[in-house]
Amino acid sequence: MKYDVIIVGAGVSGSFIAQDLAVKGVRVLVIEAGRSFTRDTYPRKEIDANAQLYWGGGVELNSSATLALLRPKVVGGGSIVNQALMDRFDHIALDSWRSQSGAGLFSEAAMAPWYEAAENELIIQDIPESTRNGNAEIFAEGFKACGFTCKPLSRAQSGCKFEEGNDCIECLSGCRIDSKQSTPVTVLRRALRAGCHLASECEVQQVKHTDENVVVSGVTRLGRNFSFEARKLVLAGGAIGNSRLLLNSNFQRKLPYLGKGFYTHPQYMVMGLYDREINAHKGPLQSYKSYDAGFRLKGFKLENVFAPPVAISMLVPNSGVGHLAKMKQITKMACIEVAVRDTNAGRIRVNGSGRAVIYKELNGLDRERKAHGMKAIHDIFSATGAREIVPGRLGIGLHLMGGLAIGSSQKSSVVGHDFKLHQHKNIYAADSSIFPNAPGINPSLTIMALSKLAASVMLKEL
Ligand SMILES: Cc1cc2nc3c(=O)[nH]c(=O)nc-3n(C[C@H](O)[C@H](O)[C@H](O)COP(=O)(O)OP(=O)(O)OC[C@H]3O[C@@H](n4cnc5c(N)ncnc54)[C@H](O)[C@@H]3O)c2cc1C
Repeated sequence: MKYDVIIVGAGVSGSFIAQDLAVKGVRVLVIEAGRSFTRDTYPRKEIDANAQLYWGGGVELNSSATLALLRPKVVGGGSIVNQALMDRFDHIALDSWRSQSGAGLFSEAAMAPWYEAAENELIIQDIPESTRNGNAEIFAEGFKACGFTCKPLSRAQSGCKFEEGNDCIECLSGCRIDSKQSTPVTVLRRALRAGCHLASECEVQQVKHTDENVVVSGVTRLGRNFSFEARKLVLAGGAIGNSRLLLNSNFQRKLPYLGKGFYTHPQYMVMGLYDREINAHKGPLQSYKSYDAGFRLKGFKLENVFAPPVAISMLVPNSGVGHLAKMKQITKMACIEVAVRDTNAGRIRVNGSGRAVIYKELNGLDRERKAHGMKAIHDIFSATGAREIVPGRLGIGLHLMGGLAIGSSQKSSVVGHDFKLHQHKNIYAADSSIFPNAPGINPSLTIMALSKLAASVMLKEL
């Protein structure tokens, strides 16, 4: 079958574009390297979930092994494993995008209708204050004591049944009650109902492009080769996925900026140990976000987070008995992380066997931003009676952005303002890979908004 459009990646962007095209009768095929799960089949153990829902068996590392990169590999992509926090970009993020990319689209007024359209696809709720757990209480009390400002979070969820004892920490491995508004229970489901085809466990390895069509080829999990053809291609494999695919297909000759401009909002979790039970794993995983103008100007934010035990054990320093002694106190741990709005662009390359190699470090300004955040966390834990403060021993990259930056010049960008690759009129991208720099704000809602806009551009052409 010849498709009108092939979409590589069934994550956030791929699913949104698939829906908007399929409901208008466009013949769409979505190809996804990861598996398809339902609420009844998500892996039940944290360690199995890491292996089955992420590339690299759980984590990939940057070249200096200082940053653990979490890259989803599953139908639904990041929407399955993420925290579903929904934020519009502020003028600080949009102004810097506009000045770097030259795209007039990046203003609060121009983006508003696309944000609204994306929000209308999901149920978004504020986390009720009555359900906050011990970790959230420390976050809120500490902010108050230190004179910082925080705010309740908005999350894409449809009722998490906390009153029945549900603990949202589990849904980092897929929501078992379909409350989290992941794409398989929202837009991707609607796309499939409208006739969109989905090929899961199929990794695309090569793209070929002519003036008339696009051919993608790759291999299934069982090792069988496949090839599909369409009039148009959407790259929705995320920052590393898109860069890797195009680099392996030799697009860098025409697109010299490919793989450059890679950002991650490096995050550093810090545990506070208390004499009382905190039970940070209970109820809603996160209830508050920092909303402090001073933090924003200094280029960081604080998050009210926690993680399941395997992840915490990787972050807690020491080994052997010392490590065990800390882990035994897991229910007395609170946790806050600093997320840096990073300025030092990293680079995605591929090695001889086609695997992605990630060069990404902090520069002096990024380290300063991190230090400001660490100081604020220290102050919050001290003000709320922590007996020990334990910084995690590894940075984490969850917001993987760039590699196919949007812009007007071929020297400093890969995708044009019309969401097409420069000089490739049939290949589009609107996912996290087109971010021109790090916004310092949760990216999903903006990916959804840009994907809806890109789909409308494609519909006009189709
Ligand atoms: C633990 C965690 C928590 C997060 N929390 C939040 C949050 O609360 N709020 C927020 O806004 N953001 C959050 N994020 C980030 C957010 O999930 C991502 O920014 C978002 O998913 C990126 O969307 P995307 O469409 O660009 O790519 P993805 O959603 O990552 O989808 C890309 C898909 O493409 C597939 N793919 C890649 N290459 C190929 C190939 N060659 N062939 C076939 N398939 C391929 C991948 O397997 C993947 O499924 C979080 C991320 C993580 C990991």
